[in-house]
Amino acid sequence: LWRFWGPLSALSKVYSQVLSAMASAERIFEILDTDAEVTDAADARRMPAIQGEVAFENVSFRYEETKPDVLHGVSFKVRPGQRVALVGPTGAGKSTIVNLLMRFYDATGGKVTIDGLDVKDVTLESLRRQMGIVLQDSFIFSGSIEENLRYGNDGASREQMILAAESVRLDRVVAQMNDGYETEVEERGSKLSVGQRQLLAFGRVLLSDPRILILDEATSSVDTETEQHIQEALETLLNGRTAFIIAHRLSTVRDADLILVVQDGRIAEQGSHNELMKHGGLYAKLVNTQLNMQEAVLSQVQA
Ligand code: ADP
Repeated sequence: LWRFWGPLSALSKVYSQVLSAMASAERIFEILDTDAEVTDAADARRMPAIQGEVAFENVSFRYEETKPDVLHGVSFKVRPGQRVALVGPTGAGKSTIVNLLMRFYDATGGKVTIDGLDVKDVTLESLRRQMGIVLQDSFIFSGSIEENLRYGNDGASREQMILAAESVRLDRVVAQMNDGYETEVEERGSKLSVGQRQLLAFGRVLLSDPRILILDEATSSVDTETEQHIQEALETLLNGRTAFIIAHRLSTVRDADLILVVQDGRIAEQGSHNELMKHGGLYAKLVNTQLNMQEAVLSQVQA
């Protein structure tokens, strides 16, 4: 059974805790180690202002020369502003697809394009500056809330910084702190709750205003009210951007414009929720299993 999304209801928390314990502790895109693997082409040009059309054309990939391919003939096309949900079991290749999009690695075969330009032909800096990434456990470093928000766009004015915080409802959190935006937080954000760290990460990405957003949806459970804030903030963040979401919630997947069902390094199925349900394949089976399991959990909780 695949365990790629969390519960629909707070009642199934038990179920969700089991899921989180089984899932790998943290998804890391290996940003630090992989930079050396990819360098600018001698004639690389600057990526113009991104509109947000993304295409994978028959992409194959292997991490090491001597190892087998982990992606095989991956093809899909995304229009600007569309929301894409990547679902599939652990090890299927979801993070690898995202890694190639951010160009942490180069495709071994086929090509990855943004607005029709091969990502290999543009400079890394001009590409990544226009992309944002939010991981499950967001990166917080020691410094003030303001410094954490400005990370990625230190040229923003104070007004812009505050506006970004308000847009993701971080302002309410900051209002309760002794030193407001100057409040110091510790490395890994140990003074902040999981939900607060998440809002801080959203605010940071909003301030850097990327055209393409990559999100590894959090699986950790927070209280219902925080969850509500996070969902609202997420809507603000996603609005108008092309987004790739490694999705763990059925609601996120259902709302996506395009669902990519990844299995064994291939796109097993792609389409909208309704299309895939009508198709009656793997995705439909997973959704039905998921719903049945939740009903089972609910009936146990109620018993
Ligand atoms: P998912 O995100 O769907 O869980 P991944 O894209 O992380 O899957 O992994 C796809 C395959 O690539 C897996 O077999 C995984 O073990 C392998 N893999 C992932 N990262 C690396 C790496 N840095 N080096 C070698 N193999 C890797």
